[in-house]
Amino acid sequence: MAEEELDYYEVLGVERTATQEEIKKGYRRMAMKYHPDRNKGDKSAEEKFKQVGEAYSVLGDEQKRAAYDRYGRSAFESGGAGGFGGGFGSFDPSQFGEFSDIFAEIFGARAGGRAGGNKQMFRGEDLVYDLDITLEQASEGLKTKIKVPSWSKCEACEGTGAEKGTHPETCPTCHGSGFVRAGQGFFQIQQTCPRCHGTGKIIRHPCKVCGGTGMKEERKEIEISIPAGVDDGNRMRISGRGAPGQNGGPAGDLYVRIHVKRHDLFERDGQDLHIEMPMSFTMAALGGELEVPTLTGKVKLRIPEGTQTGRTFRLKGHGIVGLRTTDKGDLYVHTNVEVPVNMTAKQKELLQQFEESLLGSKRSHHAPEKQGFFDKLGKLFQ
Ligand SMILES: [Zn+2]
Ligand SMILES: [Zn+2]
Repeated sequence: MAEEELDYYEVLGVERTATQEEIKKGYRRMAMKYHPDRNKGDKSAEEKFKQVGEAYSVLGDEQKRAAYDRYGRSAFESGGAGGFGGGFGSFDPSQFGEFSDIFAEIFGARAGGRAGGNKQMFRGEDLVYDLDITLEQASEGLKTKIKVPSWSKCEACEGTGAEKGTHPETCPTCHGSGFVRAGQGFFQIQQTCPRCHGTGKIIRHPCKVCGGTGMKEERKEIEISIPAGVDDGNRMRISGRGAPGQNGGPAGDLYVRIHVKRHDLFERDGQDLHIEMPMSFTMAALGGELEVPTLTGKVKLRIPEGTQTGRTFRLKGHGIVGLRTTDKGDLYVHTNVEVPVNMTAKQKELLQQFEESLLGSKRSHHAPEKQGFFDKLGKLFQ
């Protein structure tokens, strides 16, 4: 077959209308099929493998794919019409970055870099610290000390993990490389050595102080600053304060997870606060000044005459700052008019007189809610 007839879609075994996901799948299928590890010494497989990589580098990129659909492969040749410059030159499978992902996915291998020759290095685990704070602290921010695990070299074994007088030995399974070759038919892949877990060493007599880890774990106090405006569930990352890595890998991170305790009075909604304020029905009827608590003190709220229960007043700027803004939210005051209880005979009599005084005047004049209700009721039975 002449080279100009190479069809990238055919190479990946997908339709011309394939989605990016289908192209990726086709690429994986074909790359696995023609991978050199699987086809030792097979020249035509090697050629196919190169074509698969070439096809994917074009079809896997929307822009290049569009140019290819229009101009064909010539768009990508040196001095070609597509203007992407350069060709592919020789395609080097070892530069096939995407391939390690495939192995990680298919075989569940743990992705890790390498250090000190052949050994695999592992990043340490992330740790989570749950911090309970009050709503006031969330509003103002705080500096606090927390105790977190911290690791240092075990002094008893000087970090080797082996009992004093003994030494770690080279792992006989992988001969110190940390890897073993696992076969699946004639297809071989490298896996982390199950005996030494990739360290290349085994410890026959583990240090009794550290149990063979070579590390000493302590609790250390560190100071952290929680910014004003944090909300329940927010996480702060403290880089490098997680568990230590293995074989020279980097430490994990420490996450401080914020839990804001429920407040007795305030309900939080983002930067806004809500409070339910009980109010005597006399004040509701006559109006007056209500003292409303805020997170920082008390403010006076003017209650107009004839305030109904469930009415909401907004106190601007008495909420909470945001994490990215110094503007405060608002405080919403919801009124809850209370009916008096445990009244004396005299008080009851006064109320009775009051009720009688209302008779004769138009009901809607004094009871807007009730009148509205009777209007609707009237309509219902018309
Ligand atoms: Zn030790
Ligand atoms: Zn080993």
